[in-house]
Amino acid sequence: MTEVLKCSKCGKSNLWVMSPIRYIFFTSTLPVLAALLFGFLADPVFFLFIPAVILTNHLLAKKKTPLKICKDCKHTENNFSHHSAS
Ligand SMILES: [Zn+2]
Repeated sequence: MTEVLKCSKCGKSNLWVMSPIRYIFFTSTLPVLAALLFGFLADPVFFLFIPAVILTNHLLAKKKTPLKICKDCKHTENNFSHHSAS
């Protein structure tokens, strides 16, 4: 990893890269907590949503990450061009 990441908008290298694991964690926390809450309070059938939520976010993470977020201008971008040049 010798590639220098730069924001395509402001050109600064003050980027925060969201990995697939982080993406799954961030996107799954709230729905999973909600499913747990509803599972305990309402109906245990809501527990079935938990693996579904994680699976969905796992598939989304494959598409959307690595996601780069600029700390300076809050610009977010995807790494669409995945060149495997060595
Ligand atoms: Zn920027």
